[in-house]
Amino acid sequence: MVSPLAIGKACAKPTALPLPPVVCCLGGIVKRSLRSLAMADCPCAGPSPRPTGLAAATCLRDFAFALLFPSLRVDSCPCLLYNSRVRGARAAFEPKPRSTGTVYMKVLVAEKCGFCPGVRNAIHTAEKVLAQASGREQVYCLGPIIHNEDVVERLARTGLRTVKAVDEIDTGTVLIRSHGVAPSALERLTGRGLQIVDATCVLVKRVQQIAKQLEQEGYEVVIIGEENHPEVQGVMGCVNNVAVVADESDLHKLPSDGKLGIVCQTTQSPEHFGRMLGAMGQGGFRELKVINTLCKEAIKRQESAIALCQKVDIMFVLGGLHSANTRRLAELCKNHNSETFHLQNWQELDKNVLSGKKIAGVTAGASTPNWVIDEFVKHLEAFDEKDG
Ligand code: SF4
Repeated sequence: MVSPLAIGKACAKPTALPLPPVVCCLGGIVKRSLRSLAMADCPCAGPSPRPTGLAAATCLRDFAFALLFPSLRVDSCPCLLYNSRVRGARAAFEPKPRSTGTVYMKVLVAEKCGFCPGVRNAIHTAEKVLAQASGREQVYCLGPIIHNEDVVERLARTGLRTVKAVDEIDTGTVLIRSHGVAPSALERLTGRGLQIVDATCVLVKRVQQIAKQLEQEGYEVVIIGEENHPEVQGVMGCVNNVAVVADESDLHKLPSDGKLGIVCQTTQSPEHFGRMLGAMGQGGFRELKVINTLCKEAIKRQESAIALCQKVDIMFVLGGLHSANTRRLAELCKNHNSETFHLQNWQELDKNVLSGKKIAGVTAGASTPNWVIDEFVKHLEAFDEKDG
């Protein structure tokens, strides 16, 4: 909590409002009325291009604040939950000269990046299951819970054992990650008497259900995506006749007189989905039924990454090298900014690529934790070419 005087100074627009004395603007009055809020972060402190209202809410209290007063800015989160919008706020600062005359790298962080709701739910579920098991029984995950080694290692230290196959599990609890699994794998787990905790993302579950439905309607199911990706394999396992097409070169796999029911891996880009549908439209197939199964969260990350690419000299995409959505982000960014680098963390960066660059952009896949992004941004902002 700061003093009334400090608050008045922090706000660029002090007013003559008499009550309550520590408040310097309308937003402050509202915050003040929610007694537990710290007043250090006056919501009127300076212009911002960031969103307003619910879209700008960074925590539950911000959300309530925005719900009550939609016209007020809520981007100065009082609970210090550090998310992409807060990072965005920091990114709005201009580069500052050092006493030596060196100029800091200006770093812009994508408005939407990092953990998606599906991944967050899977990690939260894992933590809950591990806490309940508290070492009394073994907790397994079929495949890495997310494509991020740091998170997998952290959860391994608290007892989550990652296995590749059902046969490796004899007793205990099995967590199904956000990618989901084929129904046959679930049956085998149940048959072994194992307790199953299903953290499959609801959007992935939806693709599985749609694929089943299409098959019941007499369509041959086509998945646009990567055949080896666990999400795609789970969907494949839901139907009997299925073809997976990654790009146009795979279209020869499809029956020319086929009646095709088409879905898409959730994290593909809308551009790729559209291009593939266009190519199929020219393929002379008897009937095409298309269900859009793209994930909006993935699309938002792609759109904000592309927007950022156009403003920066160099672009960094943070995330696991095996993460499909991160790879997709990196491909898209490369198309819009040739100086794009896909890395897992700051340690992997060849600092030579920063030479002569003034503005850097940072985005991250849906399986990249905030702390990886924060650490990278911190180093980038402090980077001095002379130090290497
Ligand atoms: S990227 Fe989308 S579909 Fe995939 S886990 Fe996250 S929210 Fe679910």
